[in-house]
Amino acid sequence: MKKVIFSFCLLILVCNISAQKNTKSSAVQNTNSPKNVILLIGDGMGTTQVFTMMTVQKNNTIEQFPYVGFSKTSSADNFITESSAAATALSTGRKTNNNYVSMDPETKQPLKTLVELSNAKGLSTGVVAACDITHATPAAFISHAINRNDYEGIAEGILNTQPTLFIGGGKDRFEKRKDNRNLSDSLRKQGFQVLYALADIQNTQNPKVAGLLFNIHPESMINGRGEFLKPASQKAIELLGKNAKGFFLMIEASQIDWASHDNLFDALVGELKDFDHTIQAVLDYAKKDGNTLVIVTGDHETGGLTLPRADNNGDVLFPRFTTFDHTPVMVPVFAFGPGAENFAGVYENTEIQKKICKLLGL
Ligand code: MG
Ligand code: ZN
Repeated sequence: MKKVIFSFCLLILVCNISAQKNTKSSAVQNTNSPKNVILLIGDGMGTTQVFTMMTVQKNNTIEQFPYVGFSKTSSADNFITESSAAATALSTGRKTNNNYVSMDPETKQPLKTLVELSNAKGLSTGVVAACDITHATPAAFISHAINRNDYEGIAEGILNTQPTLFIGGGKDRFEKRKDNRNLSDSLRKQGFQVLYALADIQNTQNPKVAGLLFNIHPESMINGRGEFLKPASQKAIELLGKNAKGFFLMIEASQIDWASHDNLFDALVGELKDFDHTIQAVLDYAKKDGNTLVIVTGDHETGGLTLPRADNNGDVLFPRFTTFDHTPVMVPVFAFGPGAENFAGVYENTEIQKKICKLLGL
């Protein structure tokens, strides 16, 4: 009899555990929902890059995020993803093939992005990137393409997707095209102010901004980009925040990936410091606002970066890159604000989009 009771108790226990597991894996807990979501992506930013950022900055930016998860980054056709397939997962909640930009891997039809879904609900939407706006990561939020290198086609797609604002590089994709069309004129016809300088963006009160600040990409930080990502992000938040219904904003620190591909640690540190300042500015806004969920993650790790040695105080790091390419390791996800608790755990990168959709009611 004892044995029967014991087995029965064990059964209840097992059922309970699996029930808990089910509710947990079916995502969002019904706690408070945010009005706004800001997703910050460090391209190529794995755990070692994050630790490098913390160590060189000697501050606690990333430690202010109360919830941390890990995201598995493989794409539909490859264990090791690249940036357009990774951004497609974050933007559409679907895994696609490497080099596809928010396109279904089977039907080869466009997948709805977070920007499109937010637009449909009356939210304002924006993308800010430290690269050509038609480059893989921002492209997967505001356009669609079978090939990430189809930059001019991606620029055209932005006219259909119509985010409230976008700020980055890529002016030539709109104005120096093989088809001789001037897409900036088309943007103006749609009501966008096409602006070419950060100061002009900072002076406008009209949220409909096409910010084309660089012909293609901006410089790296160590080559003199200067303050761009943080002030552009702050202005984007100010403009998008005018919408009482809320907003979705994606901010990309694009060149963490490039420095890691080149195995250039000083260049990497420059990009990480820039990202750290941007993250802190976004957090400061979210803390004051109280209705904004902030998520910081990488799309994949680049460079296989390790820190095998450091001096006693962490003042000098001796890094070692182990590849010039991306690696398959999980990347951390940091969350702050209403709904942040949903981002704890280990999950596929596609879950991030699904959680955001549930929290924003998209
Ligand atoms: Mg990128
Ligand atoms: Zn890369």
